[in-house]
Amino acid sequence: MSITASAVGPATSAAASTHPAPTARIEAFLEQERRETPFLVVDLDVVRDRYRRLDAALPTTELFYAVKANPAPEILGFLVDEGCRFDVASPGEIDMALAAGARPSQLSYGNTMKKRRDIEYAMDRGVRIFSFDAMEELAKIADVVKSRSGSIDPPEVLVLCRILCDGAGADWPLSRKFGCDVDQAVELLINAADEGFSLGVCFHVGSQQRNPGAYRAALTTVAEQISAPLAEAGHRLDAINIGGGFPGTYLAGVPSPEDYGAAIQAAIDELFGPNPPRLMAEPGRYLVADAGVIQTEVVLVARKSIHDQHRWVYLDVGLFGGLAECLGEAIKYPIRTPHADDAAIGPVVIAGPTCDSADVLYEEFKYQLPMALAAGDLVELISTGAYTTTYSAVAFNGFPPLRAYYLPLSQP
Ligand SMILES: *Cc1c(COP(=O)(O)O)cnc(C)c1O
Repeated sequence: MSITASAVGPATSAAASTHPAPTARIEAFLEQERRETPFLVVDLDVVRDRYRRLDAALPTTELFYAVKANPAPEILGFLVDEGCRFDVASPGEIDMALAAGARPSQLSYGNTMKKRRDIEYAMDRGVRIFSFDAMEELAKIADVVKSRSGSIDPPEVLVLCRILCDGAGADWPLSRKFGCDVDQAVELLINAADEGFSLGVCFHVGSQQRNPGAYRAALTTVAEQISAPLAEAGHRLDAINIGGGFPGTYLAGVPSPEDYGAAIQAAIDELFGPNPPRLMAEPGRYLVADAGVIQTEVVLVARKSIHDQHRWVYLDVGLFGGLAECLGEAIKYPIRTPHADDAAIGPVVIAGPTCDSADVLYEEFKYQLPMALAAGDLVELISTGAYTTTYSAVAFNGFPPLRAYYLPLSQP
């Protein structure tokens, strides 16, 4: 067995040494029997370790798990027991978090685009934290609060104005779709203050953000261009939500959670002094990515011509089976194949099993896989616990959604 990191190009040469192998529990599970592929197996012990480690690295920050990264009830349930809060984006995610035992006050409705009836749904269940980035969205929130003026006191409602972030340094940037510029944010927050709401700012520095300094840049913007003008207008910023972005361990190496924690804490201390706003973060990927492994089967190895330097390797999982983050080859999963470590290797294009020509995982970036790789071989995609089950199509081309197994927590 070998975990491949030796692809063409210098950027990845160090990756094999930095990447954690699947846990002993996952190895034991994979060895038990040959199961129908593809499937994801997640070791909940790893999720718990990640949560505790990030919580320790960000001691003054409340963690809201971004449910979309992997909403399995097995994960949400024990995170509630750990004291984790939740970032939700729809009535469906609200229901999942509440079903797992979360209290409504522990939920943040982080989607900036909500139907009015979805805001009502959240308010009526007791959710009081809402993100927004436009006047129309603020008006919807204010309207719903007014329509429930007997039961909801405006200061209980924390509105987080999302500001634009360029996503530089991130492998999966979220830049253009969400957020507004700082001048609009100040204006929106002054309007929110007039409604009597508690005021906050949120941002997302881009998912799989490999530069801890990105948070300082965003926090500096918040301090200088939002908090300061708000103070001049007589309003205090009650909360800052620094979003997600904390990385999983893929082919390229990443800084540790402690590096992120130190960078963020230093920036907060420097920019906001001894009495900073309430701090929130919304880790998704970091908590679950490294806890999961997808096992897949090689369906076909082919060459397009006798002159081709590379082979095409078709797996039984692809873009529509959960690997949507291979779009643009943004996320590069470590890949483990059978055959001896010293077996001859060569470049491949890796593709999924559907009849859609977009269903190609890696073509620009050439993974080097064993020449002996053949149909029927089992291949593992490492660090696939985040953004896979949720991206898997229900039945595109007749393929079922990604199966998943969750290995229960071991004590304590
Ligand atoms: C998806 C999302 C997150 C999680 O981001 P990660 O990079 O996975 O940590 C956090 N906040 C919001 C608003 C999101 O949409």
